Amino acid sequence: MRSDASWLENIITEFIASSPENSLRNEENERAWDQPLVGFSRGDDPLYPFFKEDIGPFYWTPEEIMSLTFPGVALAPGRLTVISWVLPHTAATRSDNAAQKDLPAERWSRARNFGEDCNHALARHVVSLLAARGIMAVAPTLSPLWAWQEAEKYGFASNWSERHAAYVSGLGTFGLCDGLITRRGKAMRCGSVVAALAVEPTPRPYTSCRQYCLFYSGEKCRKCAARCPVGAVTDDGHDKEKCRRYLFETAAPNAEARYGFASYGCGLCQTGVPCEAGIPAPGD
Ligand code: SF4
Ligand code: SF4
Repeated sequence: MRSDASWLENIITEFIASSPENSLRNEENERAWDQPLVGFSRGDDPLYPFFKEDIGPFYWTPEEIMSLTFPGVALAPGRLTVISWVLPHTAATRSDNAAQKDLPAERWSRARNFGEDCNHALARHVVSLLAARGIMAVAPTLSPLWAWQEAEKYGFASNWSERHAAYVSGLGTFGLCDGLITRRGKAMRCGSVVAALAVEPTPRPYTSCRQYCLFYSGEKCRKCAARCPVGAVTDDGHDKEKCRRYLFETAAPNAEARYGFASYGCGLCQTGVPCEAGIPAPGD
């Protein structure tokens, strides 16, 4: 099982280190992502059915997305693994975006667009290498069945959340603005694949889902709230609708007009904050 974990970690790390897909597609052909973090969780981890209960019946457990992808094949949840990764933004992208006040930096917009293409290519790469070994696997967010839904408690949500998979897989905890704070910080994107393969789960070095956020540990902080140009982050958390309106009505048209592609990135609350590039320490 450990050798499978090492093999998967190597596949992911090697892809990000050497694939031409890892590019901002700018004149300098800079890379979009730094070295990834990789974590694993069991398909029968009780957090997955808990999310379904909490978010809504449309939310997939690992077993459900595998059954939908491979109908008629019986797969015990305990024999499934969620392979999750975190792709940290580069220092140049973080620094550019941290200097912005109202609109995302060009590098950030590029990473959200072309870097996300790379993230998808990585997911397809992992699935195809597993398939070459005869192992059934699916990237839930690339499934044709993946869709946005309306959750009674949380507003719009989808049937699979990369950040939730990363949280279960020991990679980080949620901040006030809903971003996942990882060892490499909150300025990142993540991805995942569910596979019919038993891999030792990554220990979760936390006991609560908000553990790494200074706001919830009595330090107040609120730096991410101060960074949001539309007040979508408050002491009550992240107003997803307000955020989405800004992404679709302001950030995307701005990127289209200035750079020639509609990028839905913003990330102002992910940069210029103490949790940008690591787990913040009290007093940061
Ligand atoms: S900026 Fe502060 S309050 Fe916001 S997520 Fe990071 S640690 Fe938490
Ligand atoms: S992504 Fe942008 S609009 Fe959305 S909460 Fe963060 S700073 Fe605000």
